[in-house]
Amino acid sequence: MSITSDGDLDNVATGTERAVLRVLSDGRRRTVAEVCAELATARSSVVHALNRLRAAGVVVEGPTQRTTRGRPARAWSLAASPGLLAVVVAAAHGFLAGVVRPDGEILAAVHGTADCTAPGTALELLDRALTRAAVTSRDIALAVLGLPGPSMFARTPGPPSFAASHLRRFREWDGRPAADVLGEHLARPVFCENDANLAALGEAVYGDAAGAATMLHVSLTHGTGAGVVIGGRLHRGGSRLAGEIGHLHVDDGGQLCECGARGCFWQTTSIPALLSELAVAHGRTFTVRDLDAAAASGELEIVRALRGFGRSLGRRVADFVVFLDPEAIVVDPSLGAASDVIAAGIREAVHQYTPPMMAASVRISSGSLGTTAHLKGAAALVRTENLLDVAGSGPTGVPGGPGVRRPVRVPPTADAR
Ligand SMILES: [Zn+2]
Repeated sequence: MSITSDGDLDNVATGTERAVLRVLSDGRRRTVAEVCAELATARSSVVHALNRLRAAGVVVEGPTQRTTRGRPARAWSLAASPGLLAVVVAAAHGFLAGVVRPDGEILAAVHGTADCTAPGTALELLDRALTRAAVTSRDIALAVLGLPGPSMFARTPGPPSFAASHLRRFREWDGRPAADVLGEHLARPVFCENDANLAALGEAVYGDAAGAATMLHVSLTHGTGAGVVIGGRLHRGGSRLAGEIGHLHVDDGGQLCECGARGCFWQTTSIPALLSELAVAHGRTFTVRDLDAAAASGELEIVRALRGFGRSLGRRVADFVVFLDPEAIVVDPSLGAASDVIAAGIREAVHQYTPPMMAASVRISSGSLGTTAHLKGAAALVRTENLLDVAGSGPTGVPGGPGVRRPVRVPPTADAR
C-alpha cells in the first residue's frame, strides 16, 4: 500500500490514517489519547494507523510527555514541518495580511485601510507581515486569500472563476485574478475563501463557539450576512452563498438589490441603514465607533436602537435556529460593546420565536477573536480541508508547491501498543 500523490490519498490510505494525518496537520504534537479524543476513534485503530505512518516516515514520536497521572506518554507529530500560512483578506474596509502557523498561532498581522483594490497595497502589507514574523516566502507553505462575495473555495489551487459583478474590484487586481497575483508574488499555491466564512470558521474552531459542531456567525459591519459551519466544516451551499441572511426577502415593493432581487432584508436592517436612521433622528452623523462608545456608556436611546436592531435580526436568525438547531450563534464583535447589545437583542428574539428546548440549547454571544478571526479561520480552513496535503507540503507531500509530490510507501507493519 502506498499513500501517494496528486490527490490519490483518499484512494489508498485507510480512513483512520487520513483522519490521523488531518489531526496532526497543524504541526502540534499530540499523545495517542489526544488523537483518540479528537477523532472519537478506538485507541487500537489510532495506534495501528500511527505505527504504519511512522514506518512510512510520515509521522514521528517525540520526547515523552508527563500525563496528569505522572505516567509518561509518547507524543506524535508530522515528520516534516507543515510550513507557515500567508493570509490576505481584501474587503470593503481595507486589507488584512498575516502570517499564521497551521495550529492557529498568529506570528504577525498588519492592517491597511488604503485602496483595497490595488495589488501593491496587499503585497506590501504581506511583505511587512513576513518581515514582522521574521520569515521569508520560502517558509510559507501556501496562502489563503479572503474575498467578499460567493465563496470561490476549491481544493485544487488555481485561478478561480467568477462572474462579472460589483465585487470584481475586489477579486481582480490590475485586471488579473487576485489569486494569480498573490500566487506569483509568493510562488506558492493560493486558496480562496469568502472573508466572512473565514471569520466564521475562526470563531467556530478557536473562539467562543469552539467545540460547537453546528454554528452560525453573523457578520454586521459591511452588510448583514452569515457564515454557516456544520459538522465542524464550512457549509457553502450549491451557489456558494449559504448564510446570506441579508438577502432574505422582506418587501415586495422594496428597492432593487445588488443581488438582483427586490426588498432584501439588509437594505433596511443593517448597520449602515441603522447609522442613516440615527443620523436623521438625531441630526448628526454616526459612525460605528459612535455605536461602540454609546453602548459602552449606556446611552439609552442608542442602546434601545441597537437592541431593536438585534431583535429584528434575531427574528430572522430564529428561523435558522429552527432549521438547523445550532449549538452556537456568534455575532461579529467588530462593533465592540454595540455587538454585545445586538447579541442580546438576537437572544431575545430567538427565545421568543423558537421552541423553548432549542432556545435553551443555543449559546448566543459576540465573538471573542476580534480581527484575528479571519487569520485563525484561515488556519482552520487549511486543517479542515487538508490543504497542506493538497498543496504538496503536507504529511504525504514534498515541500515545493503543487504537482511535485512523490509517493510515500507504508509497509505492512503493525507493532501496535
Ligand atoms: Zn439582495
